[in-house]
Amino acid sequence: MADNDDLLSCPACDRHMVKVYVKDANCNVDICLNGCGGIWFDNQELKRMDEQHENIDEILELIGNKEFNEVADVKRMCPVCGTPMVKNFVSAKHEIQIDECYNCGGKFMDRGELVAMRNQYATDAERERDVYRLVEQSFGATFKAQDAELKKGRPSAMNQCFKSFMDLFIEEAVCTQDHELALNKKAIRHINRNGY
Ligand SMILES: [Zn+2]
Ligand SMILES: [Zn+2]
Repeated sequence: MADNDDLLSCPACDRHMVKVYVKDANCNVDICLNGCGGIWFDNQELKRMDEQHENIDEILELIGNKEFNEVADVKRMCPVCGTPMVKNFVSAKHEIQIDECYNCGGKFMDRGELVAMRNQYATDAERERDVYRLVEQSFGATFKAQDAELKKGRPSAMNQCFKSFMDLFIEEAVCTQDHELALNKKAIRHINRNGY
């Protein structure tokens, strides 16, 4: 979904959000300037601002020293399409959770989360490497056993299933930057398809 022109109500505190044009990202974000300080990103916008070298001075100037209201971290509805949003960690570090709308692709970050996310890794590539590292730690031994069996040329049907499952899992984990969610979704689909 493209950058929307509608005035949005903050999904955390219901105040009107203010559109702020971020020049280097060439899009508007919606900031809850008179309420909680949360920021709304339409689909793909966050990707243009989540690395340290990406200039977001327009946002930092507005929220830098301002006092904002506290809000509860409860389930929230998408301010664009009304779909209940899902809370996801932004990286394998599991420190920052944001709200995501799977319908329109929008994302909401509470006050302070954008800066904290940018400080976690210098680049998206580093962030992705950390996801791989986590997968390797969690499933490395299984992968090695798997490879050994494949090399012998007689992989079992179950192992082949597992391999394709893990390929999909890694792909999605990197895309969504949330390995737990990816695992759950793939596991459910796998069970639905194969009955185990
Ligand atoms: Zn708010
Ligand atoms: Zn939405």
